[in-house]
Amino acid sequence: MEKQFPEAYAQFVKVCDTLEEHYRDMQDMEFTVENGKLFMLQCRSGKRTAKAALKIACDLVDEGMIDERKAVLMIDPRNLDTLLHPQFDPKALKIAQAVAKALAASPGAACGKIVFTAEDAKEWKERGEKVVLVRLETSPEDIEGMKAAQGILTARGGMTSHAAVVARGMGTCCVSGCSAITNFDEDNKSFVIAGKTYHEGDIISIDGSTGNVYDGAIATVDATVSGDFGRIMAWADKYRKLRVRTNADTPRDAKKARELGAEGIGLCRTEHMFFEGNRIDAFREMICADTVEEREAALEKILPMQQGDFEKLYEALEGNPVPIRFLDPPLHEFVPTEEADIEILAAAQHKTVAQIKSIIAALHEANPMMGHRGCRLAVTYPEIAKMQTKAVIRAAINVKKKHPDWKLVPEIMIPLVGEIKELKFVKDIVVSVADEEIRAAGSDLKYEVGTMIEIPRAALTADEIAKEAEFFCFGTNDLTQMTYGFSRDDAGKFLGSYYDAKIFESDPFVKIDQVGVGKLMKMAVTLGREVRPDMHIGICGEHGGDPSSVEFCHKLGLTYVSCSPFRVPIARLAAAQAALKD
Ligand code: PEP
Ligand code: MG
Repeated sequence: MEKQFPEAYAQFVKVCDTLEEHYRDMQDMEFTVENGKLFMLQCRSGKRTAKAALKIACDLVDEGMIDERKAVLMIDPRNLDTLLHPQFDPKALKIAQAVAKALAASPGAACGKIVFTAEDAKEWKERGEKVVLVRLETSPEDIEGMKAAQGILTARGGMTSHAAVVARGMGTCCVSGCSAITNFDEDNKSFVIAGKTYHEGDIISIDGSTGNVYDGAIATVDATVSGDFGRIMAWADKYRKLRVRTNADTPRDAKKARELGAEGIGLCRTEHMFFEGNRIDAFREMICADTVEEREAALEKILPMQQGDFEKLYEALEGNPVPIRFLDPPLHEFVPTEEADIEILAAAQHKTVAQIKSIIAALHEANPMMGHRGCRLAVTYPEIAKMQTKAVIRAAINVKKKHPDWKLVPEIMIPLVGEIKELKFVKDIVVSVADEEIRAAGSDLKYEVGTMIEIPRAALTADEIAKEAEFFCFGTNDLTQMTYGFSRDDAGKFLGSYYDAKIFESDPFVKIDQVGVGKLMKMAVTLGREVRPDMHIGICGEHGGDPSSVEFCHKLGLTYVSCSPFRVPIARLAAAQAALKD
């Protein structure tokens, strides 16, 4: 253009500078040249990839066009996901045709051979295969297989189902609630999508950022972060008021989160620790015990392992907060489902297969998410809470001895409390065991006992609850489930109709329902702080990594938000934007 129309070109460059100067942003400009004369047609802020957005913001600051605050506000936090996870090669994606679309449950792209069980995922990975684990839905016993897989695809489940939450925590790509999967047959290892039958070993590609499922292999490109990312994050940290913690239950995830800027743990789900190696055997022994003594004997085997896990977590967090959430899921999630495993358990327990089956049958509940779980387990089996308290306190005492300069104050978090008396019941057990451990060790360790606010009644009675709870942490996955009465595992099935009918604009398990659930949260913050003005209050439901929900938490005056490791940068940026907009 410079050669063909030198005058128009010179004018065009000037106009570009004027427009960019005026809008203080990179512009997408349309123009034409007719008979050597330049006509500007229109301009708008240019679309950009996440990487380009960071570079543009940094360049504009370096050129003195905008300040750091404006730079922080310019970046859409949701796009940071694409920088932190592998993506499909855009060129390959252009010609690919999705065979199904489901929930974009955990970002990133994965391609691999289909396997149907967690055991197969592990085995195939060990022999060098890349696999996608396809399940009807996952449960804690699938954890090792989920770790081994490139990606996870489930036929059922919503945005806060086990597969979605755990995959997000690990940074593994996941597509959930894929109702296009039919004829799912785990025994014969096959399923059908759009008329085609897929078998074990067939290659499939899934996009956890869009929810698309593709037949065959699609090339992926690795995630890369540039120096601009670090600059923007450092600016964000200057302005945010909310602290950002992470949901992590392994030292590996905790370390990743620390690298991405987490200032502590917000939620450690202890249940996943029971599946490593042969620990599940001792745990199943505990479930099958006939007497308290037998149960205690089984728990005694788990104690050193759990203590070791907590020590590693404390080490990884270097004195930053580590709340340990006590056992939460219903016990049926831990018992074997396969006949062969039931036989092994029966032999180990010196029981008949029929006896084990009857124990398993007795654990069956019509509505397990509202059943025997959370602190209700500790009320029924106080010895579980005792064992977990010993593990938390002993681990903290040991690590404190090694690092006396760290501010190590373990936070014991009691889940699913709805009534002050049940919290007090469990807290009394915790306090008596913890104090005894501290006294016996001659330590001066301090600890806190708090609760999750995840049942509407806990929010409604937060002033009562705060008399016992030293801190609150909102479990908005359950709080949303119980406020709406929508099963977090099944709502995906019908929410589509809600969007079509314009009843909902978004998934309440992703974006906090500020009107209803938010009202309960606001009430709990006000009531709680009336009793304990300095109490720290956080959120560790999946909403803790959603930008609009983070903004809401800022407005509520929460102390921190906690999210899965890879969403930590998103939360840091969203928290800064909320503070800057305020
Ligand atoms: C919650 O309910 O929001 C929560 C964090 O606990 P979980 O997802 O483990 O039930
Ligand atoms: Mg919960």
